[in-house]
Amino acid sequence: MTNAELIDRLIEETAQAPDWRGGLARPGHLPLFNSLGPVMYLTPAGDVVMNDEEDGPLRLADQAERDFALARAAEQYPELAYLKPLRPQLAATCDRCCGRGKVTLSQGTILPWRDGQEPEWVLYCPGCNSLGWTVTG
Ligand SMILES: [Zn+2]
Repeated sequence: MTNAELIDRLIEETAQAPDWRGGLARPGHLPLFNSLGPVMYLTPAGDVVMNDEEDGPLRLADQAERDFALARAAEQYPELAYLKPLRPQLAATCDRCCGRGKVTLSQGTILPWRDGQEPEWVLYCPGCNSLGWTVTG
C-alpha cells in the first residue's frame, strides 16, 4: 500500500469518526490538529496544509508547523507514526520541556509538564514544536 492510499483510507475512516476529526474531514485532507480555529491537514501527497483562522484559506505549513503537525499525526494515527521527525544525533534535549514535548503554565511561567498534572494546563512545547529536542547551530 502506498502512502497516498493509506492516507486516502484514513481520510475515509476519519470522516466517520465520532470526535472532532469527523466534523473537520474534507475530501483529500486528513485532519491532524485543531486548536480553537486553525486546522492542520495532511494531504495524500504528504504535504501539511493549514489555515490561520476557522474556514480560512489553506496554505502550506512552514517547517516548524510541519514538524508539529507530523508529531500530532503520529499520536492521532498510529499507522502514520513513521512520519514523525526522527531525532538527529546532533539534537539537544529541549530545555523548556526537558524533552517531554509538553509544558504547563504556572503563574505565568512555562514549566516542563509532569505526569499526573491536570490535562487542561498542558500545552505543546513552543520551544521544540513538541518534539522534545532541538537542533542548534
Ligand atoms: Zn520543548
